[in-house]
Amino acid sequence: MDKEKMIEELNNQILKCTRCPLYKFKTNYVPGDGNPNSKILFIGEAPGREEDKQGKPFVGRAGQVLTENIKNILNMDRKDVYITNVVKCRPPENREPEEEEIKACSIWLEKQLEIIQPDIIVTLGHYSTKWIFDYFKLKFSSITKLRGKIFKVNKWGKNITIIPTLHPASTLYHKEWREYFDQDFKTIKEILNKDKREGILKFI
Ligand code: SF4
Repeated sequence: MDKEKMIEELNNQILKCTRCPLYKFKTNYVPGDGNPNSKILFIGEAPGREEDKQGKPFVGRAGQVLTENIKNILNMDRKDVYITNVVKCRPPENREPEEEEIKACSIWLEKQLEIIQPDIIVTLGHYSTKWIFDYFKLKFSSITKLRGKIFKVNKWGKNITIIPTLHPASTLYHKEWREYFDQDFKTIKEILNKDKREGILKFI
């Protein structure tokens, strides 16, 4: 079965999920969006108000920042990458997701990873970085210390690159952080270019 079909079937399961109380507060489930065949996966924290309304991740103001950098720095369209969150339902009043909710929702992110098997994982902010570091048994410290650094793990029979960066929402409240966010995207771009060059060399 192809990845698109598998993601579609997975999303149908997520849309019925009652594994934690967050489903009672949401308007829409927000499973994920984009191309499951993409080599790059972005993971955020949880849906916000606009995401909850539209059922799509990163479509509010923070989403605009992310979409801008995907376009302007990576020269990609957001439909070329896959975007999701650790938690698929909006926590009430935009509060942070609780440990039990993250634990309950993890099953879905694990399944998304198994289907997409991305080459590059970009974690956006504290929660997704912590989740991915735990998942790959890496030592987590803090997002401010880890952002912009490159981590390599072996999974699905290949090397995976993990790059933590800030949550784009944080760049709206701390304008000076936008520069860090942009810098990290330039690092992602370098990795994409390097992979492309190595991919070409393989066929020469
Ligand atoms: S947040 Fe996740 S675990 Fe909780 S109800 Fe929504 S989809 Fe299910």
